[in-house]
Amino acid sequence: MMQEIRAGSGDRRVVVLGYFVLPTQALFEGCPASWCIATDVYNKDGRFARAPGRGGVDTTGTSIADIQLRVGSFEVAALVLVGYSAGCQAVRELLRAGAEPEAVLALDGTSGSLPPTVAQLFPWQDAAERARQGKQILVLTHTQQTYTEHRGQDSFLSTLEGVRLITGWEPGKPLGDVPLMRRDGDLVVASYASAQIDPEAHRRQQTVALPDLLRRIVVPWVEARAGHGAVETSPLPSTSRYGSPRPLLQLGSRGSEVSAWQAALSSAGWLLTVDGLFGPATRIATKLLQQQSGLAADGIVGPATREALKALHGDGEPPTALHALSEAEKDRIFGRIEWELAEPPQGQIRIVSGSDLVWVHLPQIAGLLGAPRDESVLMHRLAGPRLMELFEAWGKTGVLARVIAWSGSFAPRLVRGGTALSSHARGIAFDLNAQWLPRGEPMPPLGVMGSLAELVPIAEERGWVNGGAWAMPDPMHFELARVIG
Ligand SMILES: [Zn+2]
Repeated sequence: MMQEIRAGSGDRRVVVLGYFVLPTQALFEGCPASWCIATDVYNKDGRFARAPGRGGVDTTGTSIADIQLRVGSFEVAALVLVGYSAGCQAVRELLRAGAEPEAVLALDGTSGSLPPTVAQLFPWQDAAERARQGKQILVLTHTQQTYTEHRGQDSFLSTLEGVRLITGWEPGKPLGDVPLMRRDGDLVVASYASAQIDPEAHRRQQTVALPDLLRRIVVPWVEARAGHGAVETSPLPSTSRYGSPRPLLQLGSRGSEVSAWQAALSSAGWLLTVDGLFGPATRIATKLLQQQSGLAADGIVGPATREALKALHGDGEPPTALHALSEAEKDRIFGRIEWELAEPPQGQIRIVSGSDLVWVHLPQIAGLLGAPRDESVLMHRLAGPRLMELFEAWGKTGVLARVIAWSGSFAPRLVRGGTALSSHARGIAFDLNAQWLPRGEPMPPLGVMGSLAELVPIAEERGWVNGGAWAMPDPMHFELARVIG
């Protein structure tokens, strides 16, 4: 329930949802009088972190419905999400739940656990990508506070490090009160000066940075879009609560049309969750399909894209046997890695650029030989969620008992004995039971110590290929061979 609401005016209104730690008037003062603004204040029971996104609650939809109940009906011209400090968790959960705002302003609060989970980073990384493409504006601010990473038991990710992981940029260190700004497309990072532990600098994000960035960046951007009709074609997340249903499917779309599209992609081998919510995974699968078909990869499903799926895969034909992706396909899907040979030991490389890694928490590997103590492993951003899903599936079917050792995921190296880049260097592969499954020998049959034979079909269903049947067998090795939902 939003606490403070200003109705705004007009048949079409920009809606701003603000999430704060302390009540503030800065948002009301910084936005045009015609905009509709609603704010909520984080309370210590973590309402922001819990309410949206978990248990399938569409808080953007319910927030806007709530506002319209209280101020009367209007058409939503654009959605703006603003978070400060812990309030940014509410913004993140809204993004995770499929909201597609026109503008996001996150003030010194992209925090996560240490290390962060995929679920904490992915919504921001996805928003950053959209912003780089000019589809929304994302403004991230940070102070130089890093003490949150050194608080012992209570340690969590500082916003500074969060911005690094989300953007891949090294945040700037300004000296005075004027932020250093960095921009790529409509992704903007504003870096503010502070000491390492500096509550006052953190508070000034709400009282000084908020109105300043609204006035200089967010309001002009949204007004320009809303004024030129771009907002009508750039969707709001819900088709039912407000706005009108759209014929095209895209990020944020919902409903039975989306379910049908996900089912068609799934039967063509993309293995998406059919949940009627067009989220980042559905968009990635759609873009890859478009790339394969020579269409503009915009992730929007129109007639040409539907035809492309039929042409490539027929109507619901089962996928062909899974095989590892070619190097060119890996480059295209996961990004090109620039690397150079490191010093001996032989085969080690130094990655110069192109790495896109996230920490993935795998509770299922606790206690395995070789498992990291915090059960967190590095994987490519696109592979991380798939790895978590795979281990969950293995866990549910009871085959995890066959896994004795965790033998590594990301590793900066070449293929053993070769000159090609290992898929481990891309972060899309992991090894299990290495001590029992030497390279060059096929997967031993079920029941033999170390055999993973029961795990392979479940992995293949989820797009992970095992190396046990390769010409040069590598039975310990699993790698992502399809990008799936
Ligand atoms: Zn391997």
